[in-house]
Amino acid sequence: MISATIIGEFDNQLSGRILLPSHADFDQVRKVYNGMIDRKPALIAQCRCTRDVAAAVRLARTHDIPVSIRGGGHNFAGKSILENGLMIDLSLMKEIAVDTEGRTARAETGLKLGEFDRETQKHGLMTPLGVATTTGISGLTLGGGYGWTVGEFGLSCDNVIGLEVVTADGNVVECNAEQNQELFWGMRGAGQNFGIATHIEYRLHELTKVYGGPLFYPLSAEILRFYDEFVASAPDELTTLGAATKMADGTLAFGVVVCYHGTPAEAERAIKALRDFGKPMADMLSERPYLEMQALFDRDIPPGKRYYNKSHNLSRIGSGSIEAVLHFTATMLPYPSMIGFQRLHGAAARVAPGATAFPHRYDHHVVWISPVAEDPALDESMIRWTQDCWEGLRPHADQAVYVNALDDGSVEGEARVRQAYGANFTRLQALKQAVDPTNFFRQNSNIPPMPTPKSQRSHGTA
Ligand SMILES: Cc1cc2nc3c(=O)[nH]c(=O)nc-3n(C[C@H](O)[C@H](O)[C@H](O)COP(=O)(O)OP(=O)(O)OC[C@H]3O[C@@H](n4cnc5c(N)ncnc54)[C@H](O)[C@@H]3O)c2cc1C
Repeated sequence: MISATIIGEFDNQLSGRILLPSHADFDQVRKVYNGMIDRKPALIAQCRCTRDVAAAVRLARTHDIPVSIRGGGHNFAGKSILENGLMIDLSLMKEIAVDTEGRTARAETGLKLGEFDRETQKHGLMTPLGVATTTGISGLTLGGGYGWTVGEFGLSCDNVIGLEVVTADGNVVECNAEQNQELFWGMRGAGQNFGIATHIEYRLHELTKVYGGPLFYPLSAEILRFYDEFVASAPDELTTLGAATKMADGTLAFGVVVCYHGTPAEAERAIKALRDFGKPMADMLSERPYLEMQALFDRDIPPGKRYYNKSHNLSRIGSGSIEAVLHFTATMLPYPSMIGFQRLHGAAARVAPGATAFPHRYDHHVVWISPVAEDPALDESMIRWTQDCWEGLRPHADQAVYVNALDDGSVEGEARVRQAYGANFTRLQALKQAVDPTNFFRQNSNIPPMPTPKSQRSHGTA
């Protein structure tokens, strides 16, 4: 692709390092969260600072090399890694500065969310991130970021005050409410398309403990209907994730993971109806440290297992969806495979749909149809099961989808990316045309640059 001399010169410019497939660490470094993804880039730039990232972009531009960007490498579809291109790896960039007085944190984008949480919790502070500590803060935030406090504090992207971005021409810019405002708008929900975020500055909130954990019920149409009604009237402080699953012994169950921010007495009042519904098979609710709540799923879904996922947005879990969920749970692989229902409501739903690139500002469930296995021999059947389940739910789903839950670009197609951005899509295309007209950043849920109308095309040279 490019000569050894050029690679050597490039390596000398970096404070990080270049890895070629012949390097002893290459196979370890190219691993991503999902064990089903096995792609081999031509080279990996392990960056240590913004300057390294900008140099990697310029190298790729000069030599016309396709790139991917790895934040946490957590994306189900492996959007952070590509065959035969340059992977720009941010995973060594983990600095974070917490301003306790101003209640902000400026973080490098190689941090995983567990690492970010640990640093901010030293000061009793947090920002809303996702529910698995191994997720990268950057991919999560740039696409939206649903988490346990979405009702009270909004999405991760709602708490972004500013970003440092390496653009498609290798320049470094800041964007925030005063500078590069259109880029700032686009980075909050569609950021993977416009540049490489090297630092993200977040607003922080005081929170150290929550009341939460899982409750398990036998799976039935009644619990699904009740759950849907219960969460529709939940206060902002109460966020939930429901999951239809099959236990190892074949029992079909519906787990409701609850997170309440407030005193135990307030929490118990808010969840009383849920606790009183039927007879839970297990009730593991208690007051717990926030870090423990954040790590609740960690043991069950470690890096390296084989994951697959497809998704819908669902305003309500109606009779048609219930029928499909009951049918497909019966044939799923055992827990931690699940059909999950992650909630968006409250503060996140009150933001105007055009205020950030993330458009889905209404109460809904993000449905994660997510089988998990360890044996590669199960890949084909689990992919087929997921697609069938997705088709089964499709007639009942909204014409909307969460971009971070979308599968690989080659599968989803542009129509589905349009659904991820709804009425914001055209404005995003115009931004893409302005900041990345050659579609340099395309290893993502891609927003193609706005085609220039014929009448505005320039004739002759500038
Ligand atoms: C088990 C599991 C649990 C999850 N839980 C949640 C959850 O609770 N809430 C939620 O909202 N989502 C959740 N997700 C989805 C998650 O948001 C996405 O997978 C997200 O892409 C992960 O971020 P990452 O940095 O690890 O991404 P990567 O895999 O590194 O990258 C994903 C995409 O983002 C781009 N990207 C990454 N970093 C940058 C950067 N710094 N600048 C520009 N582009 C970048 C990449 O090019 C790629 O297109 C979950 C996923 C899994 C597998």
